[in-house]
Amino acid sequence: MDLGIKGKRGLVCAASKGLGRGCAEALAEAGVDLVINSRTDADITRTAEEIAAKYGANVTPVAADITTEEGRAKVLAELGEADILVTNAGGPPPGMWTDWSRDDFIKAIDANMLTAVALMQALVPGMMDRGWGRVVNITSQSVRSPVSVLGLSNTARTGLTGFVAGMSRQVAGKGVCVNNILPGIHATDRAVSLDGNVSKNEGITPEEARKRREATIPTGTYGQADDFGAACAFLCSQQARFIVGQNLLLDGGALNATL
Ligand code: NAP
Repeated sequence: MDLGIKGKRGLVCAASKGLGRGCAEALAEAGVDLVINSRTDADITRTAEEIAAKYGANVTPVAADITTEEGRAKVLAELGEADILVTNAGGPPPGMWTDWSRDDFIKAIDANMLTAVALMQALVPGMMDRGWGRVVNITSQSVRSPVSVLGLSNTARTGLTGFVAGMSRQVAGKGVCVNNILPGIHATDRAVSLDGNVSKNEGITPEEARKRREATIPTGTYGQADDFGAACAFLCSQQARFIVGQNLLLDGGALNATL
């Protein structure tokens, strides 16, 4: 399917690997000129080179911590304006609800809520002026169904979801569609790290931890970053113009709910 976005300009945050990279690859394949970001210079540079070579795309890497004001300023200076924004950042650490301090909450809210808000505030006005834009925020299944050990994530991402619910309706009339994608468990480094956490807490091997987590998913497998990216690219397409303020859960059916 031609997504109709060839030649658009896009930013994908936290994209040297995992879900962000999956999104960057799918957008590059659709012909979008990209700025991609993550903190480690060598990794983001290599990823940009690989994606550019694979799809013949223009891909500019920017090494920066997207959760800081300085990091965002560096990325935005390289980017200029954008038609497409995919927000993403590393997830907060797991833990016990009794242990988190105010600072822990502020850090999580900064990274997984206010960073996305700041990027939308920086880029969506230009999209509205030009009459076209797409934003996809990578959030988490924890917005629909809390993951108890990820209370910091549950909290911050639910805040972002509430913000998007209202804001997306305020900008849709100018041709800008803002939506969220909620990943369930995907086979990325983040999943490996959470498997490690389960393995440590339950005294089982990481392989057993993965098997147990896979058994909670009706598909019986973890999701793949390239499938995730394809869904993201569709939400950034011309054809997605009537999809506004939605939360697309990609979890292999793990959430047992009718709606
Ligand atoms: P991942 O495989 O660990 O990749 C994370 C990417 O983000 C890397 O490119 C990393 O590169 C970059 N990054 C991390 N912190 C950053 C920062 N502050 N500034 C810029 N780049 C940063 O993670 P993932 O699985 O793709 O997860 C992406 C997001 O989805 C996370 O928020 C995660 O919590 C959420 N999520 C994932 C799953 C899952 O099963 N995979 C499920 C639900 C939610 P550097 O380290 O070099 O910066």
